[in-house]
Amino acid sequence: MHLRRSKVKFSRIKQIFISHLHGDHYYGLIGLLSTFELLGRKGELTIYGPKGIKKIILVQLELSEAHISYPMHFIELESDAPERIYEDDKVMVDTIPLHHRVYCNGYLFRAKPGPRRIVIEAAKEAEIDVAYFNRLKQGHAAPNKHGVLIPNTSVTLDPHPPKSYAFCSDTKYFPEIVKQLKNIQVLYHESTFLEAHKDLCERTMHSTAKEAAHIAKVAKVETLVLGHYSGRYRNLEDFRTEAQEVFQNTLLAKDGKEFIF
Ligand SMILES: [Zn+2]
Repeated sequence: MHLRRSKVKFSRIKQIFISHLHGDHYYGLIGLLSTFELLGRKGELTIYGPKGIKKIILVQLELSEAHISYPMHFIELESDAPERIYEDDKVMVDTIPLHHRVYCNGYLFRAKPGPRRIVIEAAKEAEIDVAYFNRLKQGHAAPNKHGVLIPNTSVTLDPHPPKSYAFCSDTKYFPEIVKQLKNIQVLYHESTFLEAHKDLCERTMHSTAKEAAHIAKVAKVETLVLGHYSGRYRNLEDFRTEAQEVFQNTLLAKDGKEFIF
């Protein structure tokens, strides 16, 4: 767990999303929950994951006689269809049902479009009082100090495109997910194997780098991030090379590495 070394403030972590109950995807969770307790966390925490996640965590806490004093909620998932599991005024989170050896979901995180952006110089020049700026941000026209109605688009710009990120691990090649990933900014897709070991994908229900790239290409995402490489490979650059035959804008995830989009 490299979270402590990252710059993420623990108190800002209010939700945790677990894809499936294979150990490498949640064994670190109990340690993290205990660390939160040691650090005196007070704020609520909500954990999303497959049905069973609550039992697994509570039995570990019970048998180790560990007590968690901050409010902890579990949202257990069992649907095979995409679900909106979280929404507030800024973001929404949907599940992306994946195809793995056990029940597994990826997660799609999308920001909502922000307000229109006021071009301050233009608004000043049009002699619009700052009291009307909120109206402009909402897309309405506003009067200037002479009572002339100024059209919104002459003093504002479109909002920045909302950010979007999909996390897809673990899964075999599953084109079904493409419809949820259309035109998103960043797709993380597992690539456990290279094409040379494609036969292992069937058995283990994982994907190759090339398959991940196919998903990225068909979904027309902006950036593909690969990860979850099998330990058998020495040179991770091979994953990028293989994926780039299909999808150029491919990055390699590594523990502790940060991407800013
Ligand atoms: Zn797995």
